Amino acid sequence: MSHVFHRHLKHSYPTAVGGEGPYLIDAQGKRYLDACGGAAVSCLGHSDADVIEAVRDQVGRLAYAHSSFFTTEPMEALADFLVERAPEGLSSVYFVSGGSEAVEAALKLARQYYIERGEPQRRHLIARRQSYHGNTLGALATGGNAWRRQQFEPLLVEVSHVSPCYAYRDQAPGETPEAYGERLAAELEAEIQRLGPENVMAFVAEPVVGATLGAVPAVPGYFRRVREICDRHGILLILDEVMCGMGRTGTLLAAEQEGVTADLVTIAKGLGAGYQPIGATLVSERIRAAIAEGSGFFQHGHTYIGHATACAAALAVQRAVEERGLLDRVVRLGEGLQQRLEVRFGDHPHVGDIRGRGLFRGLELVAERDAKTPFDPERKLHAAVKRAAMDEGLMCYPMGGTLDGRRGDHILLAPPFILDDAQLDEIVDKLDAALARVL
Ligand code: PLP
Repeated sequence: MSHVFHRHLKHSYPTAVGGEGPYLIDAQGKRYLDACGGAAVSCLGHSDADVIEAVRDQVGRLAYAHSSFFTTEPMEALADFLVERAPEGLSSVYFVSGGSEAVEAALKLARQYYIERGEPQRRHLIARRQSYHGNTLGALATGGNAWRRQQFEPLLVEVSHVSPCYAYRDQAPGETPEAYGERLAAELEAEIQRLGPENVMAFVAEPVVGATLGAVPAVPGYFRRVREICDRHGILLILDEVMCGMGRTGTLLAAEQEGVTADLVTIAKGLGAGYQPIGATLVSERIRAAIAEGSGFFQHGHTYIGHATACAAALAVQRAVEERGLLDRVVRLGEGLQQRLEVRFGDHPHVGDIRGRGLFRGLELVAERDAKTPFDPERKLHAAVKRAAMDEGLMCYPMGGTLDGRRGDHILLAPPFILDDAQLDEIVDKLDAALARVL
């Protein structure tokens, strides 16, 4: 019996012992093509020599120094690198160890910003249903995924949840994308009015929804309308790019494609590509300045913020992405993946939608295509797909449907940026074989 408190306690896992490019290898020597980067993490694959060398070098010189005593070279260099490439206005970086911590920091920065400005009544958060922002209590309260929240509801602060932008299910017949985006903007505006605009602190959203919907981008213009509404009421916009950021959709931040800059942006997963645990919150100049010129101290922190080795790893990852031209490759491979998925599953009776951007793609599974009827969630199709895919030697990231039928099961694909065309074919072949086993 394993003495590890695994997340699933009723089944066992293969033991991963090695990684080779886009493949993971288990103790029996079986190879798994990592078509989801774990959870959209491993954007450089599993054995990048430059990143491994950077980690070795940093550990050899200085593994860690506590951020309340020192700054470090890799932390400063990584912040410089990110700010130089971030949209104008984002001028500093708060480093943490992962996505949930990045979201917690963003929420507290928003709150402290308004205290420093003398608007302490601004405490309401608005986020979206079918969103995921992490599992710590603040991030979980912000997320709108009923299944993840359910048993912890009594511990969660109150957050308003409005509709996500989910055209496949919610754009009405005959409604244009623009009209649909307007309808959602009006819903946000109405919720702000209900709470009192002077009481609202921030609106939080994922530019491309990951874990809870399966790579769903917004309709064109939606985020520009959201930005306008936030600006009109002096509300901060927090964009959660933990999953869709750091090149996953073909630009460093997914929101660049929307022509929108947030006040706070959370990043993680692809930042360190799994070579070290790291996340960060990109902070706009007005928030930094309000705190710098006010109390001068952010009332929040963790032991491992700005971990020197994690920063060195992330810097090596980001340099590799840039120097090897991988963002262009993400765009090209992403189009190739979408095309292959459409050819193979476009007429599949149980694939309702194929969507996404760059190397961030989702397939929504439905019992009945025309009516978009989800499978019964009790069937736990997502778990069966995951098992079948692993049997085929493929890692993909399936998620379950919801009891209220608001979405179906979906499969998220987020492979490393280093794939070749033959490996795109391999993903589609193995996924096809896995689906044939369970559908
Ligand atoms: N935000 C988003 C959009 C995510 O997808 C996730 C994780 O999947 C998180 C936050 C939480 O990140 P972590 O699991 O690193 O805490």
